[in-house]
Amino acid sequence: MYSFDYQRPDEAKAAVTALSADGDAKFLGGGQSLLPTMRLRLAQPSALIDVTRIQSMKSVTLDADKLTIGGAVCHADVASNADVKKALPGLADLAGRIGDRQVRERGTIGGSLANDDPAACYPSAVLALNATVVTDRRRIGADDFFIDMYTTALEPDELIVAVEFPLAERAGYEKFRNPASHFALVGVFVAKFRDGSVRVGVTGAASSVFRPAALEAALSKDFSVASARGVTIAPDELNEDMHASAEYRAHLIPVLAGRAIERAMSF
Ligand SMILES: Cc1cc2nc3c(=O)[nH]c(=O)nc-3n(C[C@H](O)[C@H](O)[C@H](O)COP(=O)(O)OP(=O)(O)OC[C@H]3O[C@@H](n4cnc5c(N)ncnc54)[C@H](O)[C@@H]3O)c2cc1C
Repeated sequence: MYSFDYQRPDEAKAAVTALSADGDAKFLGGGQSLLPTMRLRLAQPSALIDVTRIQSMKSVTLDADKLTIGGAVCHADVASNADVKKALPGLADLAGRIGDRQVRERGTIGGSLANDDPAACYPSAVLALNATVVTDRRRIGADDFFIDMYTTALEPDELIVAVEFPLAERAGYEKFRNPASHFALVGVFVAKFRDGSVRVGVTGAASSVFRPAALEAALSKDFSVASARGVTIAPDELNEDMHASAEYRAHLIPVLAGRAIERAMSF
């Protein structure tokens, strides 16, 4: 490591002011992505603005139509929170299967979304549930938030203060995980809403999380495992690497969608 300044403000506004005052500063969530990157010298921020002590970003609130999770809530707290388990058990289940216990105790939902790793779990839920990312200055709908690999609609000095999730009738996630990291080789989140519509978020399979139109159309007609398994996904533009071919990832998407439906029906 090299030397850098460290600040731990109590309020979101102070965090943004501190970051804006130094063009090379970065927000620090749980440090589970940023600190390894710094160790590898792939990032060398002059200052870290730690947002994990900002109390307004650490709460979970359940209203009649939405669940709001503060940007600094760690994965373990999402997994164990009673309101998350009651309103969106599929989301609690997803959080409880991120990485290992250490990663879950430190990593935050805001950090995960800002980082936008193409194999991260949360982006699939945010997209499928049509969540809204609330920042210190605006509200960004899920369809407009994820741009490309490690690239979101956030400005460099923009802070995720919360994420608002509409309540779905059924929601579930399944991933084929990399056994070393537990990141998704492919991960699929399915969400069925009260009006019968279905949204699906796929992570790990392409350069960014995406919604497979054919699966959404099939599941909106018939929200069943058989319906998911009846869909064929084209491998064009899917990831191909040492872990899996594009064809294998394409094959996994409907398979995991079916398993995600089974999970969604089990809560
Ligand atoms: C061994 C290991 C296994 C993992 N397995 C998984 C897995 O299975 N699934 C999965 O989804 N993830 C996995 N992760 C990633 C983990 O979930 C991280 O916690 C997450 O990617 C980053 O969150 P963080 O709070 O640690 O962010 P940090 O590392 O602190 O920050 C990441 C980036 O986000 C920015 N940032 C942080 N907070 C905010 C905010 N509130 N607003 C705006 N910008 C912000 C930072 O400036 C930085 O650019 C794994 C990580 C490790 C080390």
